[in-house]
Order: sequence, then structure tokens, then C-alpha cells
Amino acid sequence: MEPQAQEQIEFQGMIRSIQPRSTVWRYKTDNRTHRLTGYNLFLTGTAKGEQRDFSVAVSEKQLQKCQFHIGDMIRSSAWTKRYANLEYADFYRVSKLKKLQAAEPVRTQAPFTGNLYDLATYRRRGCRMLSDRLWKGKCFPCKWANMAAVTIEFNFGKSQKHRFETFCYGPEDCPLYAMGRKRGVPYIHESGIFDEGWIDDICLQYRYDGGYTEEEDE
Ligand code: SF4
Repeated sequence: MEPQAQEQIEFQGMIRSIQPRSTVWRYKTDNRTHRLTGYNLFLTGTAKGEQRDFSVAVSEKQLQKCQFHIGDMIRSSAWTKRYANLEYADFYRVSKLKKLQAAEPVRTQAPFTGNLYDLATYRRRGCRMLSDRLWKGKCFPCKWANMAAVTIEFNFGKSQKHRFETFCYGPEDCPLYAMGRKRGVPYIHESGIFDEGWIDDICLQYRYDGGYTEEEDE
């Protein structure tokens, strides 16, 4: 994979969505491991001098310090990404974050747009596959929605494939939820390998362990 030249940019914009940021490692249907790495902010505003929609990766520390909400206006600098396939956000390595205008968190029904939880909570809850059509549509502003950078072990230890996939960390009874199509997991010289949803059950198995309350779902 060819690295891209990086540059530091300035941006300013209004937050449209805040979601956990993650990477996923897949190996056939034997393993689907999720690793939470921070949060993605989705904004509309100006980046690199252009008016546009864009996304920015921030750390857990930055989120906790700035207490971002949908509707906040923020300004900062960040870097373009080194590997396009390994990072969904357009920019990362954010510094000098400044909130210009604060909005109030609201709404305790789907899509859930209240305060985000720490990464330990997302980790314990686990996630299930979410239709990419819903991720782009009704689920987009939800704090439980997630776009993951996925690495597929294609020829074990020798070569990998990369893509982005959508997941949901939200309540199992969310009325908006749909899994979408089963997902093919390619492997060299093999065909017909699909993640049909049963791996989701494994990923959710520790959700209701210590620390869980029904209020957490909102
Ligand atoms: S399906 Fe998941 S991401 Fe969509 S609104 Fe419900 S909890 Fe949020």
C-alpha cells in the first residue's frame, strides 16, 4: 500500500454527527475483532479552504475535554491521512481544537444523539452489522452508529484486503435497526464465505455484564 503525502490543514464547521471510531480484523468467519480507537466527527463547513462535508478523527481525551455535541461549531487544524484505505475520516491528528459555539444535547430515542460514552462502554456493549443504507440515512446522526476500517486476512500472514463497514452499538430493540445484506469475507482459493449475522451474537455477549443499565441505551 502506497503512503500518501501528508499536509496540515485548517478546518471550521458544524458537527452533524459523532460516532465511535474503530478498526476491525476479519479472518473468514472464524474471527471478527473490533478495536475502538477514538471518535469520528462529521462536519459541514470549510476544510482546506473549501466549503464541504468532511470528517475528522479525534481521541477519547479530546472528546471528553471538549464535550462535543451535534450542532457545535468548532475550529481546529489536522493532518490529511497517510493511507486512504486504513482511515475513514478525511483528517486526523487534530490539534488546537476550539469550540466556537455550543449546542445542547437532545433526544433519547432513535437516532440517539445525546452524550457519547467512553470507549470502555462501547467495548463492553459490542456491536452488530448495520445496513450501510441506514448508516448513510436515518442512523447517521446516532451515537451508536459506526463506520469501521476493516482489514480482511486474505492469505493468512501474506496478504490482506481493506474496506469500510458499518456497525451499530445501539439497543437491540431499536426500531430503526436492520442488518442489511450478509457480507462476503474473501479468502484465497475459497468462495461462499459470508458473515450472515451469527458473529453479531458473539460480539454482543458481554453487553449486559457489570455496569449496564437500561438508561445506557438512550
Ligand atoms: S439502528 Fe443503531 S445506529 Fe441506527 S438509530 Fe438504532 S441504535 Fe442508532
